Amino acid sequence: MNRAAMYGRLHAHSGRWDLIVVGGGATGVGVAIDAATRGYAVLLLEQSDFGKGTSSRSTKLVHGGVRYLEQGNISLVMEALRERGLLLGNAPHLVHDRAFVVPNYDWWEAPFYGLGLKVYNLLAGKYGFGASRILSKEETLERLPTIKTEGLRGGVVYYDGQFDDARLLINMAATAWEMGATLLNYVRVTGLTRDGEGFIDGVTAQDAETGEEFQAQAGVVINATGPFSDGVRRLADAASAAMIAPSQGIHLVFDRSFLPGDCAIMVPHTSDGRVMFAIPWHGHTLIGTTDTPVDGVPLEPVAMEQEIEFILSTASLYLARKPTRDDVRSVFAGIRPLVKSAVGASTAALSRDHTIHIDQSGLLTICGGKWTTYRHMAEDCVNQAAMLARLPEKPCVTERLNLHGFHPNAAGFGALRVYGSDAPLIQDLMRAEPALGEPLDAALPYTGAEVVWAARHEMARTVEDVLARRTRALFLDARAAIRMAPQVAELMRHELNQSAAWEEGQAASFAETARLYCL
Ligand SMILES: Cc1cc2nc3c(=O)[nH]c(=O)nc-3n(C[C@H](O)[C@H](O)[C@H](O)COP(=O)(O)OP(=O)(O)OC[C@H]3O[C@@H](n4cnc5c(N)ncnc54)[C@H](O)[C@@H]3O)c2cc1C
Repeated sequence: MNRAAMYGRLHAHSGRWDLIVVGGGATGVGVAIDAATRGYAVLLLEQSDFGKGTSSRSTKLVHGGVRYLEQGNISLVMEALRERGLLLGNAPHLVHDRAFVVPNYDWWEAPFYGLGLKVYNLLAGKYGFGASRILSKEETLERLPTIKTEGLRGGVVYYDGQFDDARLLINMAATAWEMGATLLNYVRVTGLTRDGEGFIDGVTAQDAETGEEFQAQAGVVINATGPFSDGVRRLADAASAAMIAPSQGIHLVFDRSFLPGDCAIMVPHTSDGRVMFAIPWHGHTLIGTTDTPVDGVPLEPVAMEQEIEFILSTASLYLARKPTRDDVRSVFAGIRPLVKSAVGASTAALSRDHTIHIDQSGLLTICGGKWTTYRHMAEDCVNQAAMLARLPEKPCVTERLNLHGFHPNAAGFGALRVYGSDAPLIQDLMRAEPALGEPLDAALPYTGAEVVWAARHEMARTVEDVLARRTRALFLDARAAIRMAPQVAELMRHELNQSAAWEEGQAASFAETARLYCL
């Protein structure tokens, strides 16, 4: 998968596409896979990098959502638990189960959460990840050696799914490409075109690298731009009312010593009524999240001071060693594309279901939902889109589709396990040039071979693409990522045939972005 080959497909395509998808996050790329595997001709355009929006900034859970169970949204939980099970089958190299412990400090918590989490597992039916169980105080401490012991009575353990969001997305883009889709990153949709009757029949777009503009026509245009959905809808109708209530969530990342075992912590009720997680992730500890209504939707959202303080103070209630600002390796923020419902409802209470909306102009918008349910969202969306564009009816085939990288035993690849079936090819690069096998920084396991791989086969165009989304360096340890940037820029310059000035500019602009991830 590379950009020149994608442009080759774009130029070779004559006439209309069946579908054009705007947005290269989980929703858009999911739609591209679904459409391509049904045999439809699909073009996807992403203004920045794949996953630059919300889809690289999640809590990394493939879950039914214990919180939605508490809210009584049984159908959403059941749908998501089913999708969790299907995704484990689609991408076992990237999705795995994780034990979560709810620590109990009050007498009523063990029976209450014990029962709730039993129901959660029962709702998964044949897609269950393991039975929940009430733990004694000793068993809780065995699983969570760093938990605060004062007042601890015991805990409840249950099982859910975990993944690497941006890496799954890159593998999904490769899957769509292999199935015949054309996907371009760094191409922004700047306008929508109309047919003689005023219905939207295509897009105008601009390549951010070359400045070149082009038009493409399609039977249907799908707006899959998540929190940016209203912006694209207003390209069709400047007066359209907002559908999205954007809500920011942040995470803080610490080293592994804060959560040294294999178990995650789930706090079912924070002081603002949310769920908070502390989760082992790529040898670090990820803690989040918040739910803060925001007005604007920047491409690079920034954590607010009160959000940082909230996570630090909540974590301090549960961890024996209180985390401080100095312990934070990275802070990252994302914007939830929540769909507006009742006026005045808090964003924490807004629906996590997805919505498909067709404007008078024929523009189809799919938004809301969550990462876990991307496949089902795509299925619904392509069903609707095919009807709207009067495409021949074809069944969805993604339930049992192996995603690119599929490997049933990827753990054997060690640090390269997230690449699944691509891992041996990266090992070949290291064998051919042993210097590429060296870590780029002592704090993280990433090597030069992964940079070369990302530039050659995963459409990485900038240092940030490599350090934020092809590897997760920026999200794990922002200062280490800044130290790695010059070497990454040098390797990419050779791979992408760029100039010395490009190399220098890339390292500098990455450092500027990465400073937003440092406290
Ligand atoms: C803090 C947080 C934690 C979360 N945790 C979880 C979790 O643990 N599990 C889970 O299942 N879900 C989780 N979610 C939800 C999940 O991350 C989102 O539902 C999902 O990523 C949304 O994907 P999307 O593709 O709709 O949006 P995005 O990923 O934002 O993609 C939209 C894309 O559209 C592009 N775009 C915008 N305008 C244009 C244009 N004019 N032309 C071309 N491209 C354009 C943007 O650049 C962007 O890349 C979480 C969300 C947040 C915020």
